[in-house]
Amino acid sequence: MRTHVCDVLVIGSGAGGLATAVTARYHGLDVLVVEKADVFGGTTARSGGWSWIPCNPLAMREGVSDSLDKARTYLQHETGNHFDAARIDAFLENGPRMVDFFEQNTTLKFVLGPAFSDYHPDAPGGMPGGRPIVAEPFDGRQLGKEIARLRPPLQEITFLGMMIGSGKELLHFFNVTRSVKSAAYVGVLFTKYLRDLALHGRAMRLTNGNALIGRLAKSAFDLGVPIWTSAPARELVESDGGVVGAVVVRDGEPVRVEARRGVVLASGGFPQDVARRKALFGHAPTGKEHWSPAPETNTGDGLRLGESAGGSLIEGYPNPAAWVPVSLVPRRDGSKGPFPHFIDRGKPGVIAVTRKGTRFTNEANSYHDFVQAMLRATAGEAERCAFLIVDHPTLRRYGLGFVKPFPVPIGPNLRSGYLLRGRTLGELAQKAGIDIASFETTVREYNSHAAAGNDPQFNRGGNAYNRYLGDPDHKPNPCVGPITTGPFYAIKVVPGDLGTFAGLRTNADNQVIDAGGRPIPGLFAAGNDAASIMGGNYPGGGITLGPALTFGYVVGRRLAGVDTAA
Ligand SMILES: Cc1cc2nc3c(=O)[nH]c(=O)nc-3n(C[C@H](O)[C@H](O)[C@H](O)COP(=O)(O)OP(=O)(O)OC[C@H]3O[C@@H](n4cnc5c(N)ncnc54)[C@H](O)[C@@H]3O)c2cc1C
Repeated sequence: MRTHVCDVLVIGSGAGGLATAVTARYHGLDVLVVEKADVFGGTTARSGGWSWIPCNPLAMREGVSDSLDKARTYLQHETGNHFDAARIDAFLENGPRMVDFFEQNTTLKFVLGPAFSDYHPDAPGGMPGGRPIVAEPFDGRQLGKEIARLRPPLQEITFLGMMIGSGKELLHFFNVTRSVKSAAYVGVLFTKYLRDLALHGRAMRLTNGNALIGRLAKSAFDLGVPIWTSAPARELVESDGGVVGAVVVRDGEPVRVEARRGVVLASGGFPQDVARRKALFGHAPTGKEHWSPAPETNTGDGLRLGESAGGSLIEGYPNPAAWVPVSLVPRRDGSKGPFPHFIDRGKPGVIAVTRKGTRFTNEANSYHDFVQAMLRATAGEAERCAFLIVDHPTLRRYGLGFVKPFPVPIGPNLRSGYLLRGRTLGELAQKAGIDIASFETTVREYNSHAAAGNDPQFNRGGNAYNRYLGDPDHKPNPCVGPITTGPFYAIKVVPGDLGTFAGLRTNADNQVIDAGGRPIPGLFAAGNDAASIMGGNYPGGGITLGPALTFGYVVGRRLAGVDTAA
């Protein structure tokens, strides 16, 4: 078998893997990244790209009033029994340092989300904004020919293949028919996109997770880190009770990769591992009643490799994954793409009901909380689903899921069956298989308060996060509007995830630990292969990527022998 020798072998090329690789290489180590897919970037490249970093340097420069103590209080509240003080302190202390490190030494640059609220802003230590940061848009041409190996964004959340940055940029898209400034902004972006399509066959203005990976990969290539694609790690090589390398398949041949300092599992958790989903996802008795927008290659390999060397998965989290409601968009090839519903649920005039015809939660709460409520409300039912409901003016103003606002036509979505339409509420309920009488009562009851901007049942718009998702121009409540003017529409949502929480148990340096809590020599985890520090909860936008980047930075320094506290 061919042999390749390096200091550090990183398995997986998402945020966790590339942050580790860049940091370790910057500190002088010889690093190899191997990636199972034929493209690099993983789920991260498909993501929103937000990283939750309390007291990040951008917030501090903007004068945001926050403290690590306050963030610690918040995480203590959010994680409950699963509060791991050592790992949480390592995250909080190293998060701002990680941002400084990347901004000062690499191509990775960030933008602050000043109004991107924590998901439970009224909980102790919660903040109405300033903790999430997102990668600055990136010109893909800087990657040269390597752009061809960058995983494209999730097809369903682009506009005809064009990436739309979240935050202000998205607002311009919503206002395109209402504001000259927004129309001009979108017009310029779209023209540039058409030019890129003609010249390069793809969007070159990278935003969100694509920008994060674009910038990390550029940093890695600049430092001379090779990324082998189509190169899955198959098994670990052990010696004297420690991990000294792995067998990786490259060009169809096994290669023995010897890693003098260590192996880092960064293969992105188990969102596509049907067997593990069956074992851990209560709503998925066969593992298939669940839909993930994560890449097909994220099949839990890192977890199995870790277990083979004596590691074990964290147990007892209330939620083993980061839930998101998804709708299934029919594609031309007959398959269905999961569309994650991040923001539409917060718009005025949108409610969700189960097949029983009743609402079950404040729909403007976080996607993770929405799915938990949906699963509680549908316990015991054969299909665990809900329907997002809007009337015609709301659909055309904000769109819904994959359906874009006016002037984009809705016909194709009606014909594909993605969007259901009824002239009356009763007709819509009948088409969707919702209890008609109960549904009509629900909407009547909701409407009786909605015109005045109230939602006594669930208090939509009641916190800063709800309002962040709402329409700031809609008065008096950015999240509440009536459902009165037919035709009426429904889109079915089912349980999905953004990544998994139940990963390998690690210590504060993200060394994989054995059942007795002892580090397994030479074995580290980064990203979702390590158990989430959030204890199965979802405190705010960016709580998987923030720790992925931070612990990648911590592991990279640790491998290089640089003091993480320095
Ligand atoms: C649409 C969407 C939006 C999201 N938005 C956000 C957000 O804004 N903020 C946030 O914090 N989180 C977000 N998430 C979640 C976030 O993207 C993931 O939690 C995160 O990207 C996981 O990073 P990772 O490095 O662990 O894994 P990944 O980025 O998934 O990378 C893992 C890589 O390992 C590779 N791999 C698997 N097995 C092997 C093997 N045997 N050998 C070699 N390579 C292997 C995979 O192919 C993959 O490329 C979002 C997710 C989605 C789907």
